Amino acid sequence: EEVVSKNFIEQEIDKDLAEGRYTEVCTRFPPEPNGYLHIGHAKSILLNSGLAKKYHGTFHLRFDDTNPTKEDTEYVESIKTDVEWLGADFKDHLYFASDYFDQMYECAVKLIKKGKAYVCDLSADEIREYRGTLTEPGKNSPYRDRSIEENLKLFEEMKNGAYKDGEKVLRAKIDMASPNINMRDPVIYRVAHMHHHNTGDKWCIYPMYDFAHPIEDAIEKITHSICTLEFEDHRPLYDWVVRECEFDPAPRQIEFAKLYLTNVVTGKRYIKKLVQDGVVDGWDDPRLVSIAALRRRGFTPESLKMFVDLCGVSKSQGSVDYAMLEYCIREDLKMKRSRMMAVLDPIKLVIDNYPEGEVEWLEAENNLENPELGKRKIPFCKELYIERDDFMIEPPKKYFRLFPGNEVRLMQAYFVKCVSYETDENGNVTVVHCTYDPETKSGSGFTGRKVKGTIHWVAAPYAKQAEVRLYENLIDEEKGVYNEEDGSMNINPNSLEVRKNCFVEPNFGDAKAYDSFQFVRNGYFCIDAKDSTPDALVFNRIVSLKSSFRL
Ligand code: ATP
Ligand code: MG
Ligand code: MG
Repeated sequence: EEVVSKNFIEQEIDKDLAEGRYTEVCTRFPPEPNGYLHIGHAKSILLNSGLAKKYHGTFHLRFDDTNPTKEDTEYVESIKTDVEWLGADFKDHLYFASDYFDQMYECAVKLIKKGKAYVCDLSADEIREYRGTLTEPGKNSPYRDRSIEENLKLFEEMKNGAYKDGEKVLRAKIDMASPNINMRDPVIYRVAHMHHHNTGDKWCIYPMYDFAHPIEDAIEKITHSICTLEFEDHRPLYDWVVRECEFDPAPRQIEFAKLYLTNVVTGKRYIKKLVQDGVVDGWDDPRLVSIAALRRRGFTPESLKMFVDLCGVSKSQGSVDYAMLEYCIREDLKMKRSRMMAVLDPIKLVIDNYPEGEVEWLEAENNLENPELGKRKIPFCKELYIERDDFMIEPPKKYFRLFPGNEVRLMQAYFVKCVSYETDENGNVTVVHCTYDPETKSGSGFTGRKVKGTIHWVAAPYAKQAEVRLYENLIDEEKGVYNEEDGSMNINPNSLEVRKNCFVEPNFGDAKAYDSFQFVRNGYFCIDAKDSTPDALVFNRIVSLKSSFRL
């Protein structure tokens, strides 16, 4: 029998099902539409939708749009795109919390009628003062003992616009001496004369998050309401709202630790600043870890799923190294992508004894480890491009690539031997001259002699010029995210390197946005979705090859 290890949430779900607390599982992802989603949200999406799938239950995407200040419909669209891209199925289960405003209002009235809520005239500052501290109990509001009739009348007046913002609030009547500050008569409704993107000007009172969220879950019959650890102290209030509003069955809140990544920026505030300062090219700049940025960089939903699974689900906070994300995308692409030839820092190589004007179309496997990816034809001729660092005039020890007198294999083609080179007035090499040996054609079974180095190349007259963008981490965490002295961010000045003069083999004819490839010896690359055109290809390096040999 297969041993399956279950995370603590799955163990809780198993118990709930065994005890008959629920008969099926329903989860949700409840973003506030106030920004782009990032890798942390991906964890929540994959966790929640994954549980629904595993337990043959249902997954909901619900926009938590109860706060009219910050919402933006642009974010609604981007969030839908991202959730769908990750493969979380919310077909028939897309909800907006603002559609429940009527029910939330009725819940508040119900609490008033039960003597469990009251209208309070204290200002926000006074409420804070009365609340007490961790070591000191709070004091009752002078308005706490208003009659039910008076509370009903005042709350209705609040709804009808009789009061200004901040003039009155509705508070749950719980316990001002509770050791949990969240239970000290929390505000559950406030007056805010604001336009809402969905409900327009219908409402001038809006529910607070801690009141709205459990009601949203209960209305949708969510069974397991999974959220991050900072809500642990809010759980007693969550349970209070569900119980006092008499929802049955009651949803259950379970908390897990947020995902933090090292050497990346996730905070909305910081990203906004990077965008404003022009350090990055928008929210989807490939150096960021918004889901849109990861997609543009060339990450796949499968790689993010693998990453999230590897991270696991736990109650203890910790951060994960970006290198693990890189590991996942390498693993995912290794067998799935063609291995192409591209030269990122070109110099000319001329084969002196190869006939002028002749071309051979060499047949190559697209991926030697996966024959299912088929074969392609690569042109070979007298003038090629090779990488500048694959030739040295005076090589150090153990350098097995080209230098005067040395022979190497041109990948998929022939052995070539360096006979001479040309330089410009500054001594930079401009052309490497070689001779080739027709006997040594790749696949011909030639065994006469061996060479130690194999280098890649592209045929100069057939190559396509391309722009390649190489990335490093945006911030260096060892130096600290912030500069101690002036509070500025410690931005890595080399986080983006643009190479405009690269050459790729001609087989990228119909490559389109987000397509990705291995460039042999150089890593995995993805067609940039914003800037690439069929005539001027732009590639983002997703990740280098782990084993790439550097001098
Ligand atoms: P941020 O401020 O980074 O956008 P948030 O908590 O304000 O995060 P919400 O839109 O409120 O974002 O969150 C939607 C869901 O995503 C919540 O259930 C939240 O717990 C979860 N979530 C947010 N950040 C992370 C994270 N780093 N790791 C795991 N889950 C997260
Ligand atoms: Mg958010
Ligand atoms: Mg939030």
